[in-house]
Amino acid sequence: MKTPLTRVEILSIYKVHGERVLLPERMALAPPDVREAIRGLAGDLRKAGGRLILSDLFRSHDMQLQAHLDWKSGKKKAYSPPPGGSMHEAGRAFDLSLRDLRIPLAEFWEMAERRGVFPIIGAPDRRKSEAWHFDCPGSHRRVADYYRAGRGDNMPPYKAMAVSAILAIGVRVDAFGDNQDAARLQASLIRLGYELGNIDGRIGRRTREAMEQAEIDIREPALAVARAEDLLQQRFAGEYRESSPMEEDLFDFLVPPHVLA
Ligand SMILES: [Zn+2]
Repeated sequence: MKTPLTRVEILSIYKVHGERVLLPERMALAPPDVREAIRGLAGDLRKAGGRLILSDLFRSHDMQLQAHLDWKSGKKKAYSPPPGGSMHEAGRAFDLSLRDLRIPLAEFWEMAERRGVFPIIGAPDRRKSEAWHFDCPGSHRRVADYYRAGRGDNMPPYKAMAVSAILAIGVRVDAFGDNQDAARLQASLIRLGYELGNIDGRIGRRTREAMEQAEIDIREPALAVARAEDLLQQRFAGEYRESSPMEEDLFDFLVPPHVLA
């Protein structure tokens, strides 16, 4: 199966009648492991006296395009890449309210790392642009590491990671044209630890060799993608798990009742 997107109930910077409301539904989507990381982090931060308040999480292809156009026109100050390069498009990045953290940013970075959540800037300086942006890459981090090690070279490591995460939820990456399945298969094989050169949407000799090593039938591309996803689901179960009753209890605890009304 594809990586599912699940609803994330988290307070946002947005207010209605002076009260903070949950992050709007169209943005409040993330894979299950990200949802758990956000909930865990919200709890950790609350214990430390702060609050995790988000301004952004998931962006659809069109929302990402709009963010990019707004940056180009000067309406939005912080850079937004065109669709196909942002972890927001996979529900694997969020932007938070720095003001509500109420703990030093460096301390939050450590807290976040324990939950598999990483900053995008190099040093914990809250005045820097994108100090508010955090990624929760899960197994897609392996794709960034793979490119960083020089095993792929047709895009920067961070972009390759984003491409992998976007394809995994079944969203189109324009750069691969009609070869979405092939690109998704290649990214999946890299996450499983195989080597095949670049994610380029073309099934060449090296991709075929990687499929053979993974014991994936190479005759039917659509079936091959499904098979690779089965293997991923076994290996990274948390990224595919739907919510459990225990999590629903936590949900009641996290959200003040008036917010739900
Ligand atoms: Zn962001």
